[in-house]
Amino acid sequence: MAEEPKKIGRVVVDRNLCIGAATCVVAAAEVFELDAENKAVMKLKGGTKNSGPAEKKDLESDAIGDDMLLTAAQSCPTRAIFLYDEEGKQVYP
Ligand code: SF4
Repeated sequence: MAEEPKKIGRVVVDRNLCIGAATCVVAAAEVFELDAENKAVMKLKGGTKNSGPAEKKDLESDAIGDDMLLTAAQSCPTRAIFLYDEEGKQVYP
């Protein structure tokens, strides 16, 4: 795996902020999709899907990079995707 400058440990979608714009789905379809309420959920190992908090290691896709998660979070018009590093410190927004 490539070098990851920012070690992302956890991902959370704030369902109150999410407006279903789905740009996160476009940016990282391996991770995000919209549920029946048009809110973003993450695809987790074992087939569960929820808005988190999700540990990065529990995401279904092992290929997902921190840069892609950051791009997806930055693409969200309402900044509904929160990223935390492995120490629990907020990385974005
Ligand atoms: S980009 Fe943001 S608002 Fe749009 S679906 Fe994803 S989390 Fe929700």
